[in-house]
Amino acid sequence: MLAGYAVHVEQSRGRRHPEPQHPYRNDFQRDRDRVIHARAFRRLEAKTQVFTRRYSDHFRNRLTHTIEVAQIARTVAAQLNLNVDLVEALALVHDVGHPPFGHAGEKALDTAMRRYGLFFDHNLHALRIVEDFELRYAAFRGLNLTFEVREGIIKHSRDYDGKEFPELREYSLEQLPPLEAQLIDIADEIAYNTADLDDGYESRLLSLDQIRAGVPVFAGFLEEVEHLYPHAIPKLQFNEALKRMLNKFVGDLIENTRGQVRSAGIRTVQDVRACSRRLVGLSSEVERERAATKRFLYNSLYFSEPLDPEKNDAERVISELFEFWTKNPDRLPPSYRQKLREEPPARVVCDYIAGMTDNYIQERHQQFLAVVAKF
Ligand code: MG
Repeated sequence: MLAGYAVHVEQSRGRRHPEPQHPYRNDFQRDRDRVIHARAFRRLEAKTQVFTRRYSDHFRNRLTHTIEVAQIARTVAAQLNLNVDLVEALALVHDVGHPPFGHAGEKALDTAMRRYGLFFDHNLHALRIVEDFELRYAAFRGLNLTFEVREGIIKHSRDYDGKEFPELREYSLEQLPPLEAQLIDIADEIAYNTADLDDGYESRLLSLDQIRAGVPVFAGFLEEVEHLYPHAIPKLQFNEALKRMLNKFVGDLIENTRGQVRSAGIRTVQDVRACSRRLVGLSSEVERERAATKRFLYNSLYFSEPLDPEKNDAERVISELFEFWTKNPDRLPPSYRQKLREEPPARVVCDYIAGMTDNYIQERHQQFLAVVAKF
């Protein structure tokens, strides 16, 4: 049973190019499946989340991170009687706009673009992917997703100013997105805050004592687990504590959101859209714990010295290739050379690089080095 404030698929504002109904999948289920069958989605497997393959094959990559976000978001959505199909489509698509090499790659690409007075934004890039770059249908470019999924891509994590982004006017930027879209950002945060502790510990870049000292919510659960399972090996005690932390965040998100929806008197999607603040979120106590966890991860893991070489590598590879192709656009593949008629070289090169996997960009960089060596 869907809540009154959930998005009902029958009331979808539909697709750009009208299509006949499918006999046994509704429009949001079809959008979810279109995302799963997209090239950009498959490429997530070879894109870095935090750790490159140098560390281990069983750490998260962008694809497995995405699946974890979908799992958390579906659980919460079902408890709140939101539209689980829409939530799943939005969770699965939420990171398709990310370039290779994780956060370092995103920063390097943005820095390169700013030299040309442009910028890189992964949400806007994701919209370009689903609207234009994916070629699967004879009748139109892109995936022809419903309005609600495209809107969620743009609005799930930040508010865009309509004056600055007139091209997004159709998404009514002055209104908040439905709860289904609001949920994605916090599910993402919960997923990576806990997963990165896990991979950080497993990689030995974070020790148990360090996590205990830096993440109070985890320390509390670890103490409880040490009493419960005094003879278990530390990794299993770690897992038990982390699981409890994840459950606490998700449980709080469900309860707190339910309370906020109730106290704001929300009954319909229109109420959600017109509300003055986002309603999906953690209670202030748990939000403080989550923020502390994130701070710890930034200081002790993301910006730790052992990860520096790969970040520097990412920056060098991206900036060198970006410079090379913007100065020698005739070296781009034919499909991208064609786009030069409509867009500045920097934008075309940015689109090309952003779509690459970590492996592919490394390969292209090796070829670039070989070309440069000849001159
Ligand atoms: Mg994410």
